[in-house]
Amino acid sequence: MEKTEYPKIAFDIDGVIANIFPRTMRLLGKITGRKLNPPTTYYFDAELDIERKIVRGAFNQVIFDWTTEEVMEFAIDLIHHYHWKTKRKIFFITNRPRSLETETRQFLTMAIPGIPFEVTFVPHGDSKISILNSYKILVDDRRQTALEAEAAGIIAIMPETTYNKLPKPEDHPRIFRIKNRPEKLIEYLIDKCQI
Ligand SMILES: [Mg+2]
Repeated sequence: MEKTEYPKIAFDIDGVIANIFPRTMRLLGKITGRKLNPPTTYYFDAELDIERKIVRGAFNQVIFDWTTEEVMEFAIDLIHHYHWKTKRKIFFITNRPRSLETETRQFLTMAIPGIPFEVTFVPHGDSKISILNSYKILVDDRRQTALEAEAAGIIAIMPETTYNKLPKPEDHPRIFRIKNRPEKLIEYLIDKCQI
């Protein structure tokens, strides 16, 4: 019998399995003494008018002090299903600094206990896409990354957020923006991608 070749899925971490944004916004509010609205783009520093190194420092602090509350249900169901079906290791790809590797591994081990995974740390400013040669699907919350994936023929799944709206979703047939509906995504992947 012919073995089904399941397409490989790569997972981003922040905004996909780790919901670090609310706590980072609260921390930035505390640092600046301002009430901050949820950003509408990924360029938090420009939009919130806060120095980039302060924004980055706040994100890194939140990643370092990870908590169990930051696990996002969106990815958990999908990862369990994908691993159960394919028996593959879960491949995470992230722009987190490598200096936070220990905390990142601790968080992931807590979030998906018993499921083997590997993490690739892409240097800040580098594109994830060039690393994803054999991957057919990328789950990532950043719009620019989804657009780059689409251009490279990779299907992009974006958990819906305030900062990743597509100007014309109908122009992007390979990008799926999904809000808290992993069951719909799983249905889609089973149907279209045979996971
Ligand atoms: Mg992300």
